[in-house]
Amino acid sequence: MVSLKQLVKNPLKAFGTKAEKSFQPEVFDSHVMTTYGRFPLALTRGAGCRVWDDQANEYLDFVAGIATCTLGHAHPVMVEAVTQQIQKLHHVSNLYYIPEQGALAQWLTEHSCTDRVFFCNSGAEANEAAIKLARKYAHTQLDIAEPVIITANASFHGRTLATITATGQPKYQKNFSPLVPGFHYVQFNDIEALESAIASLNAEGPRVAAILLEALQGEGGVNPGNVQYFQRVRELCDQHKILLIIDEVQVGMGRTGKLWGYEHLGIEPDVITVAKGLGGGVPIGAMLCKASCDVLQPGDHASTYGGNPFVCGVALAVCQTVESEQLMANANARGQQLRQGLLKLVDTYPNLFEQVRGWGLINGFVLKPDAPLKSLDILKAATNQGLLLVPAGPNVVRFVPPLIVSSAEVNEALEKLSKALATIS
Ligand SMILES: *Cc1c(COP(=O)(O)O)cnc(C)c1O
Repeated sequence: MVSLKQLVKNPLKAFGTKAEKSFQPEVFDSHVMTTYGRFPLALTRGAGCRVWDDQANEYLDFVAGIATCTLGHAHPVMVEAVTQQIQKLHHVSNLYYIPEQGALAQWLTEHSCTDRVFFCNSGAEANEAAIKLARKYAHTQLDIAEPVIITANASFHGRTLATITATGQPKYQKNFSPLVPGFHYVQFNDIEALESAIASLNAEGPRVAAILLEALQGEGGVNPGNVQYFQRVRELCDQHKILLIIDEVQVGMGRTGKLWGYEHLGIEPDVITVAKGLGGGVPIGAMLCKASCDVLQPGDHASTYGGNPFVCGVALAVCQTVESEQLMANANARGQQLRQGLLKLVDTYPNLFEQVRGWGLINGFVLKPDAPLKSLDILKAATNQGLLLVPAGPNVVRFVPPLIVSSAEVNEALEKLSKALATIS
């Protein structure tokens, strides 16, 4: 048995990084549904911003479980919070008061423009909750019989039926019709498109209940929201009594250098959805809203696991650490360093790359539409150099390292990427 003390001090010493009994991908594939195109790697250890595979190869992790492992791997704060909470109480259901849930909700509302929180287990569920809230608000407060929610093209909101419908990308919807009624799509950052959509949808009386947008489109290509656009969106929402829902699942919790993506846009949403970074890797999601639109009552919505003592205890420790360790300042500084390095690579490979875009520690390295390589080619070459990256569509390579990433690690990632590009260009 590994003692907590050993673990907290040095997770690598406790577990080591030696090669493990060889993992067999064929056996895995014969039992697990092949819903993912996986890299041929079996990761078995992690510490900080590094992970090791079953062959003891080391990788610098600029994926962080897809923008999720806020504190990296085996962070002492997480190890301690997980261990303490599992020993104390891990699950009881929402039949009872859960002090950890209340403490996390208080932290979240005190650190955002919202007043109330509903807890669930993922980003898709957080958006489902927001969709239900918006529909009930429309029915009960605005007397709208068939409410419509406007979302953006190239958005991503999850993989349940309602959230693939909300997601403005046909590839996620193909073969799953009939989709959920009541959604309408507009071009992101295009205010005229939104104005005319509202005008036509509301032509014979109000129908638009909510506008659901990401502050920065993550999955859709690391595409930041435009300040003037979002300020006008807020005005339109006020004017037409439309709820503004901001999906912060990928960019919330400090990743952009501010706690919330909406803070970059000078607006306050009515509803926020959160998940990925919130638990630092334990599964938790949340829908936050202002008191003025909190219309959910007992029986309206529920989740058996939602907000259990385990995930809330751990998530609260993650939130407090983001604040106490000034990880948002780190996200700003390291993000700037990373973008500068990537811009140099744009200069080195003018036939490959078009631009670098992002906020804090969510950045996209954008390939030219006619570049001879796709994002996956670059990912494979980077993996061979010991750097893990994630695509955001075929033309964008996404960098979402843990928020604890150091200056030396950013330089190391840039060196590995530079070597990778040299091998394939
Ligand atoms: C990942 C993501 C989701 C879905 O989250 P899951 O936890 O996978 O359900 C929703 N919205 C955004 C913006 C995301 O990046």
